[in-house]
Amino acid sequence: MDAIANVATSSSQKSRHVGRRAQTTRGSDLLQQATRILDAARLVELGGRAGLVMYATGLEKKTANRLYRQLRGAPSPPGQSPFTDTWFLGSDIRMLHATIVWRLHRRLTNTGRGAAWMLITVYALYRCFVRQPVLDLTHAAFVPSLVDMDVWEERPCTYCGEFYLAPLESNDDQCPGCRLYHRYRCRQCGGPINARHRGRPRLTCGQCE
Ligand SMILES: [Zn+2]
Ligand SMILES: [Zn+2]
Repeated sequence: MDAIANVATSSSQKSRHVGRRAQTTRGSDLLQQATRILDAARLVELGGRAGLVMYATGLEKKTANRLYRQLRGAPSPPGQSPFTDTWFLGSDIRMLHATIVWRLHRRLTNTGRGAAWMLITVYALYRCFVRQPVLDLTHAAFVPSLVDMDVWEERPCTYCGEFYLAPLESNDDQCPGCRLYHRYRCRQCGGPINARHRGRPRLTCGQCE
């Protein structure tokens, strides 16, 4: 917490030059700044790099970098946020986890809270729900953007009826959970199928064929 106190002190020193303001305005400014710094610290703790922290909290780049360095003992690693969905599309598990993150995000949108709070809460809940998180904070933060950018859409799964995320241009009709399930289970009777069968993946078991 010393690191947070240091950053907070330097920010409040800066605000002395702002001039005379009403006491209440200064009070709410200070509270806003304190909230931003606490949110930023939590995001760094969850694995966020300075760029993401800056984007989510609205902190200045310099402050975000300084906070990161003080909390982690090293500068924030370079590297950009993902720009495409290629990494997600590489596996059904990743798409399944993206859908989990999306559902949590959607449930919390009408709370009207800010971007930092949303991201912290969604990611903390996601880590509680899954045994092994597959998405790091950067990828989890990118999931709602892919929907906003109309790269992905929500569509209902023809097997389980649940809504899931899929690229707009794809024509698949089952969710990643059902896709994973049907690798080992017959689509007709739900019985086991030989997953080690070579060639094209089997859709039904020997009895239903
Ligand atoms: Zn499904
Ligand atoms: Zn069957």
